[in-house]
Amino acid sequence: MTRRSAAPADGSDALFGLEALHTPDRQAASTPATDHAPGDTFRDSDTARRLLPVRHIYAEPAAAASPRGRQILERFPDAQVTEVPSHWGIPGLHGNEGNVERWVRIKAETLVLGVRKSLTARPNGRSADFIAPGPSNGCALSCAYCYVPRRKGYANPITVFTNIDRIIGYLGRHIARQGTKPEPNQCDDTAWVYDFGENGDCSVDALICDNTADLVRAFRQWPTAKASFATKFVNPDLLGYDPGGRTRIRFSLMPPEDARLLDLRTSPVPERITAAADFLDAGYEVHFNLSPVVLRPGWRAAWAELLQHLDDVLPERVKRQAAAEVIMLTHNQGLHEVNLGWHPTAEDVLWRPDIQQTKRSQNGAVNVRYRNRVKREAVEELRRLIAAHAPWLRIRYAF
Ligand code: SF4
Repeated sequence: MTRRSAAPADGSDALFGLEALHTPDRQAASTPATDHAPGDTFRDSDTARRLLPVRHIYAEPAAAASPRGRQILERFPDAQVTEVPSHWGIPGLHGNEGNVERWVRIKAETLVLGVRKSLTARPNGRSADFIAPGPSNGCALSCAYCYVPRRKGYANPITVFTNIDRIIGYLGRHIARQGTKPEPNQCDDTAWVYDFGENGDCSVDALICDNTADLVRAFRQWPTAKASFATKFVNPDLLGYDPGGRTRIRFSLMPPEDARLLDLRTSPVPERITAAADFLDAGYEVHFNLSPVVLRPGWRAAWAELLQHLDDVLPERVKRQAAAEVIMLTHNQGLHEVNLGWHPTAEDVLWRPDIQQTKRSQNGAVNVRYRNRVKREAVEELRRLIAAHAPWLRIRYAF
């Protein structure tokens, strides 16, 4: 693969197009809270429309005919709609063929509407007690280390599952079957925690439709359960969902200089930190994902600075209820090769054979993680840094 030109292939002026990836600050413009009038939704703002200028919708017939599907089609009336038998493996859409111009355009301009068939809550025990059947798969953002494209390829736009009512019905029954949580664990003291954002970013999904809002509101009625999702995008519309303390939003954080290199198209890290108090005041529990931790020259100082910044700027009420997950980078040989073609400087820090070890997974993919001793020492160092700079930040788990 060769490095591609920074200009969008179609000359489009999308705010988050390739030019945003290849400028010094590749992250989203930090104006979401202010570019829409009070009372208007952010998703109708110019910023949101530039992030997702949807022009093409692939839809399973049943998804298009569903109430949620019709709402989405009405929302993007100028989009060309193509019927597809399945949201999986759409020819010319999924996969790694082509180049970054094409991928970024696909992420911005394409949506897939599908019907979620498998409804299973998977036991987890780390980020949550259960991984819920999510309301979407795929993402419009472009983090260089993202594992979400592993099954559909890097050009993996958002697939919205339109049968949100069935997903919520399933969750209600699953939660009822669990009964009361018998004892505290690191996920939560009293509630069964369900992560419904494992395969995308629910704050971005909320620019498209009400799936995220519906889930947040559903969990408000379930006193034994709590929803949870990680996000790298500040969407002020979520402040109006009234979660009643039953949704935990986990803002993912890393040193801003790492994020500018790796977290492409996301909200800048300082904006995610600033948003924490707003989300707490709006009724969310606010945690932080310190992830992925990328080991590169200067990482200790950079994390120390980030943690000190958290200590300096977060109000006491945020600190009192905050907790964090610490997750070291895992990578993948296939994604490494893809990234070399369009974002090789990311691989300078992500691909470190000198300190990483490989493991072949059951499906044949070669996954890469820091060597045991390197990882152990780095986790301990992070714990020390948190104790020194943000001692109020409870670590839920670190690995
Ligand atoms: S926000 Fe999450 S799902 Fe989206 S590209 Fe980044 S890591 Fe992947």
